[in-house]
Amino acid sequence: VAAALGAPRALVPDAALALRNPSWEGAAARILIVRLSPFRDVDRSSSHLLLFSETRAALPEAFIDFAFLPDRRDREILATSAEPGEGPRPWFYGLASLRGPDHFDLVLVSCAFGLELINLAWLFTTSGLPLRASQRRGAAALPLVILGGSAAAATGPLVVDAGDSMIDGLFVGEGEGLIGPLAALLSRRDRTPASRLEEARALPGFMAFPFPPGESPSVAPRRLPSSPPPLLTPPALNSDEAATARLQITAGCPGLCSFCFEGWDRRPYRELPYAEVLVAARALKRATGAVCLEVYSFNFNTHEDIAPLIFELGRIFRRVNLMSQRLDILAGLPSLVAAELAADKRSFTLGIEGISARMRAFYRKGLAEEELERLFDLLLVRGIKELKLFYIIAGLETAEDCEDFASFMLALGARRDNQAPGLRILVSAGFLVRLPRTPLQYAPLALDEEPLRKIARRMEASCAAIQAEFRLAVHFDEYCVDQVLALGDGRLLPWLEATPSQGQVYDGGLSRGVWPSLKAAAREAALLDPVFLGEKDETYRPPLFFLESDPDLLWREYRAARAGKDREACLGEACCGCGACPDADSITFITGHKSKAPEAALVEKIAKLTAAKAGFEPLLVSVDLPPELAGATPAYMGAWLTRRLLAHAADAELFLFESREALFSDGSLLGLPQGFTGRTVFALYGPRPDRLLALARAEGLEPLSSLPRVRKARLALVLSQDDDEALAGFRGFLARAHVTGTEYAEKTGRRFVVSARDEKKAIVHEASFAFGGGSVAVDLVLGFKARLSDWLEAGPSASVRVLELGL
Ligand code: SF4
Ligand code: SF4
Repeated sequence: VAAALGAPRALVPDAALALRNPSWEGAAARILIVRLSPFRDVDRSSSHLLLFSETRAALPEAFIDFAFLPDRRDREILATSAEPGEGPRPWFYGLASLRGPDHFDLVLVSCAFGLELINLAWLFTTSGLPLRASQRRGAAALPLVILGGSAAAATGPLVVDAGDSMIDGLFVGEGEGLIGPLAALLSRRDRTPASRLEEARALPGFMAFPFPPGESPSVAPRRLPSSPPPLLTPPALNSDEAATARLQITAGCPGLCSFCFEGWDRRPYRELPYAEVLVAARALKRATGAVCLEVYSFNFNTHEDIAPLIFELGRIFRRVNLMSQRLDILAGLPSLVAAELAADKRSFTLGIEGISARMRAFYRKGLAEEELERLFDLLLVRGIKELKLFYIIAGLETAEDCEDFASFMLALGARRDNQAPGLRILVSAGFLVRLPRTPLQYAPLALDEEPLRKIARRMEASCAAIQAEFRLAVHFDEYCVDQVLALGDGRLLPWLEATPSQGQVYDGGLSRGVWPSLKAAAREAALLDPVFLGEKDETYRPPLFFLESDPDLLWREYRAARAGKDREACLGEACCGCGACPDADSITFITGHKSKAPEAALVEKIAKLTAAKAGFEPLLVSVDLPPELAGATPAYMGAWLTRRLLAHAADAELFLFESREALFSDGSLLGLPQGFTGRTVFALYGPRPDRLLALARAEGLEPLSSLPRVRKARLALVLSQDDDEALAGFRGFLARAHVTGTEYAEKTGRRFVVSARDEKKAIVHEASFAFGGGSVAVDLVLGFKARLSDWLEAGPSASVRVLELGL
């Protein structure tokens, strides 16, 4: 079953070894890190990597494993392969141990957004764990299940008022530096689960369930005084993202828009100092072998030193991805646009959010009409290919707001036609989820579809008028479920517990009927009353009552939003005393902040660096990929080789920018499947050919003057099929290629000798099959016109190793 599942491919043998797990039996503790989404949807995310890194540092003798929500295909395999008479197969099994959550001491769940809560009950039901903390407390040897992550403070439905919950503990806030000690404490086998939880209550940001009877506890989210220490040694998992590293350069956001959960949850705004960013970037490159650095920040351009960082990070990584940025800052720093263009940024993402000045003020975006004007002056220029404009529909928009949007789009279209014809404009709109612990938690809900759709239709028409593309980024049902779960409380816990029996899952989309089912359950629980649906007053408190928040501050901000008063910027300006900063130091940092405009010389240096990187000549080297890389993506293989080469010299991360497999990965030669191992050729890229050569020689790699012309290749295949299926598959492959020959029975297998006439076709030259051991080993000599994919894509899962090239 494990061989057929897709998820375990995230842990190719090389990646599994790098987890440094002891034997299962000899492990001092067993910890399972769970994501509630499929791996393919979270392979760009770092939270599970952070959990691993911190836990490993604290517990070198622990067996630490990863589990993800199985995707639809894997869920079907798990369902149909369950043995009769046995329970269901666990969905959240560890990829390294292939064991369910019930075999672990501690399960750490990272929840990134509210809809993932729909999947949580499956963790318990498919592994036979009772669904409530209170039911588990009496039973011996069950794991503690702790939930944290960026959505932790918005998981109201998980906890009933009396203090029971589906989870045993909730961690809220920034976990860096605490996750390791927390995991060590919670996985101690010499203590009962109850006593471990009791001790953990003393840790900041942590709440244990169930509460002792009669207790009304309180906990504050854990906030670090400075930007969290960056994650420098993330474990390498196998996916197309394996050559991208992520580095957090700021925490929080000074914007504090009225709707933004992240902004309010992670305040105050902090920065990792320039010098520390660079030290971290170099360490990260050595540890990951990444080609691309994704600069992680709510808004990268709030960092004081962003322009010099664009240059310096570009000297370390071949590509530096800069994602979202604050528009008011960009509008005020014209030379930053030039620096971003010089760094080859061609697509700009702009979160405008409100469709009119009035709605932007409601969202407290702090984005004035003149700033938008200035911004489009800067961005409607040749060289920029794409503008992505993001909006939020609240359901409170009036006809005038829609008219404002229409006029804005007409003006934008006219300017584009004049200044930047051919520029693509994409408009994406979502519906406003009123999130807890933000000012808009008080706003009335909008759960009727038609008014929202009407606004969306008007926006779409305005976009069509200037040939801009319009996309509604969310399904209405998803929005409603998200909204009700976000502000719903423990009255929804029975519904969440029943999602497995209802067959309900969220994996990038909701399974059918989830919203009607949730709506019915919420009605029955008397949740959808006027208090919940209407505008709240200042006495309102969001669910998770034990979590400290700032109701006075949020209420003041809401009243300002409702009155249409936009937020005054305080970054680098005066503090208007909003009360969001926890201390005087935070205020001093924010008000003393200086966004530095890049000078022309720096912009020129960035442009030269970009041009130099585009002109790197490859150094070709012969490489023998070890069997531990079986199943690896090209991105993983490249990062693996870079890591090895960088181990040989100090500063090597400044001289090797990319290692790229150059022979087979594009599929044109022999049609090898992704994940082959053995002999191949890599292209190495960097600014100094002499240094590349030295690195390659130090690793014992043979330089090549050109790509070899491969006439033949000898391969070793292992097919996970029975003997007859394997032979039938190969015969079919030969027949489709019109290759004839003679088949000989041998003691433990078969041998095919291709006819002399068909040898000339340069497809197959020889093939020997060895049977036994539950799989079929094939020794195969292919000609350069062969397409192995014509055989393997149709059927078996196979490992392919290239033994010899160019015979
Ligand atoms: S600027 Fe963006 S990240 Fe910052 S508070 Fe506003 S929406 Fe959130
Ligand atoms: S307290 Fe002052 S510095 Fe801090 S976010 Fe509010 S206005 Fe800005």
